[in-house]
Amino acid sequence: MTLDATDNGPKDGPVEIFSHELPAKQLDPELRKARDAKVQIATISLCGCWGCNLSLLDTDEALVDLLSKVHITRSSFTDIKRIPGRIAVGLIEGGVANDENIETLEHFREHCDILIATGACAIWGGVPATRNLHGLEPCLREAYVDSPTRPAQSPPVVPHHPDIPKLTNKVYPVHEVVKIDVSIPGCPPDGRTMFKVIDDLLSGRGFSMPADYNRFD
Ligand code: SF4
Repeated sequence: MTLDATDNGPKDGPVEIFSHELPAKQLDPELRKARDAKVQIATISLCGCWGCNLSLLDTDEALVDLLSKVHITRSSFTDIKRIPGRIAVGLIEGGVANDENIETLEHFREHCDILIATGACAIWGGVPATRNLHGLEPCLREAYVDSPTRPAQSPPVVPHHPDIPKLTNKVYPVHEVVKIDVSIPGCPPDGRTMFKVIDDLLSGRGFSMPADYNRFD
């Protein structure tokens, strides 16, 4: 976004700022106090399909219960993109498939006390990791060069630009990049399981995952 110099920064020309750098409206102090008193949790989505996140939303009224105890900061649920401070519990969806995923994951680890890998993609690579069976180059060739659905008028070019995250040669499970504290299996995991694990952690209880909570739809 470009702002005129009269709005921000030096007066000798336009400056570039990011939307998250725009001044935010101050919250009502009472509301801020109540929010800050809750347990801070956050989520990130790496290379996945958003199904794990949807599964958490599927907990319906249990989610309302959870929100009485937690405040969700950085998350695609809230569209907050920065981590504002220390996070008690961080949830990860998706595997690691490009350099931006690595940077996001390492930054998340630094700021989270407990890191939870949710779902097959985060735990072992899942569906995106099927590209490991063939190698990156043959997959890109199949998708962009030899694809029977490529329009005849389109040049056979693999998209590339400095702004496009660079693909890693393999898709990695998140535990191969950072230390993970808890893994919740499934594709997607049952929302009840995620809710139970978070609730047990917040209550300081040990937790177990009943076998019937293990779900692969
Ligand atoms: Fe989607 Fe399944 Fe991967 Fe979750 S584990 S992101 S539901 S493919």
